[in-house]
Amino acid sequence: MKVRFWGTRGSIAKPGSSTVRFGGNTSCVEARSASGTIVILDCGTGAHGLGQDLMESGVHPLRGHILITHTHWDHIQGIPFFDPLFGPGNEWDIYAPRGLGSSLRESLAGQMQYTYFPVTLEELGAAIRYHDLVEGVFEIGDIKVRTLYMNHPALTLGYRLEADGVSVVYACDHEPHSRQYAQGTGTMSEQDRRHIEFMGGADLVIHDAQYTTVEYTDKFGWGHTPVACAVDMCRSAGVSRLALTHHDPLRSDDHVDALCEDVRTSLSQAGRSLAVFAAAEGMVVELEASSNIKEEGDSESFSAVAPIEPALQDHQVLIGIADETLAEKIQQAAQADNLRILRAETSQDVLGIVRSTRLSLVILDDGQVGGNALETCRAIRDMDIDHARDLPVVIVTDADSDAGADVGVTDWLIHPFTAEYARTRVRAWVMRSVCRWGRAPFPENEAHRIEALKALQLLDTKIEERFERITRIAAAAFDVPIALVTLVDQDRQWFKSRFGLSPTETPRDQAFCAHTILDTEVMIVRDTLLDPRFADNPLVIGQPRIRFYAGYPLTLPNGTSPGTLCLVDTRPRDLDEVKINLLRDLGKMVEREMTATLPA
Ligand SMILES: [Zn+2]
Ligand SMILES: [Zn+2]
Repeated sequence: MKVRFWGTRGSIAKPGSSTVRFGGNTSCVEARSASGTIVILDCGTGAHGLGQDLMESGVHPLRGHILITHTHWDHIQGIPFFDPLFGPGNEWDIYAPRGLGSSLRESLAGQMQYTYFPVTLEELGAAIRYHDLVEGVFEIGDIKVRTLYMNHPALTLGYRLEADGVSVVYACDHEPHSRQYAQGTGTMSEQDRRHIEFMGGADLVIHDAQYTTVEYTDKFGWGHTPVACAVDMCRSAGVSRLALTHHDPLRSDDHVDALCEDVRTSLSQAGRSLAVFAAAEGMVVELEASSNIKEEGDSESFSAVAPIEPALQDHQVLIGIADETLAEKIQQAAQADNLRILRAETSQDVLGIVRSTRLSLVILDDGQVGGNALETCRAIRDMDIDHARDLPVVIVTDADSDAGADVGVTDWLIHPFTAEYARTRVRAWVMRSVCRWGRAPFPENEAHRIEALKALQLLDTKIEERFERITRIAAAAFDVPIALVTLVDQDRQWFKSRFGLSPTETPRDQAFCAHTILDTEVMIVRDTLLDPRFADNPLVIGQPRIRFYAGYPLTLPNGTSPGTLCLVDTRPRDLDEVKINLLRDLGKMVEREMTATLPA
């Protein structure tokens, strides 16, 4: 396999005298197998030169594949300038991670609206096919492609290409999951270990290395890796060669040289064999088969990975729920993702369908007619059919339970939930991926708590200056765009005061504050994207794009918590002890106002 770098700069193109050697164009790498399959990794501004090169090759029609890691500008801006897409007769396949919102095609068309560019996506002359990807394995000609989600503020995939007996990994843009590990002061997390397995034994890894460890201190959550950490990960992964890329736009050629020199010195002192260099525009790396290639049979480490499916519509979900309203609600949530739905009302029907049909998910409920959901689940597991043993079985219930573990229940869907919550979780079960959005359990004193909340007579009341004053002070004192006094009601959270936010309430399954009231201490979420309870929450992936949350659980004299005083920011942050005390003090002022009108 032959690899050629066309763009190595991160974030923004930076041509000029200080970047002449390593290049000013943004991300674009060409990989060709010996038999001539062309795979292009990212289409930043470097794609312009690559396009010209392909056109001048005289090959017609031009056929190739573009793997996009994510749709940040610096990875797609070359697409409108990539000439082979304009030539009639040419055929191109474009792949990118399936977004939660707009499709790949829409994202690309967005940057080619008339305001920005004179030619629309529809006017491109080549035949273009779009493919939405999730984690998994697929093939492009003689190249086997594996994908893994990277840790980046946008939905991002890394790619591992295997052909001709060699393997190349492209991991850009990515930030280590453990911040301490990234800084060199702590150990890696489980997810970092997955990242390393993904790169395992590669002949060449092209890795994000935008920052120095010192610069990284100010760039938490920006989605990039410090150089030293990229080296450490590749060393752990037994990689042969590491190409550092996504060079910071502020990095001069001399500085890049100095960084590489540092890395080599420390590696040679430690007696390590990893070869490290900085990717440079125009550089070609030829890879020949070595003993390093991962064995074919080594796919166990990817067993959590779903095979790539063109769309969810090929998946069938069986809803074994007798309650019509509940079944309908789940059916609608699943149909929003084009899943095919089968329905059954009795345990016998459920078992009959599981036996005869290839399913991706079974959802049962506690109140199922003609049988008990746990028994039905056990009967599914006892079937002598392979696909029944690892079929996800989920039970809808009122309370979390660990009783299902021994009969093989995959997960629980707990009341009450919104359609959106059900949809997100169903999608994750079907794709066998991790859903990073968890609804808070109920506090033990829930009935008592709701009673006390209602007695405050504050729900759905008018705006009051005595609370407005406090959220205003909080927003200013903590320099956050949003500060709220929230009341956590049965199935919603309602805002008694909301500085910087327009909705008056959100469903309870989306509420951060529903987690806060479970404890008596301030709850801080430094970066929602790194927190498995919140990363896929609609308030994180959509408006108001919460990245930071801190909440003080308000406490009434009877010990229950009606809600919180909380702070929200769109940037990852932290609070020191002084600030936590300040939040607590402001919270106590809210408590005082709340109870001021209570009968003695
Ligand atoms: Zn980037
Ligand atoms: Zn990016």
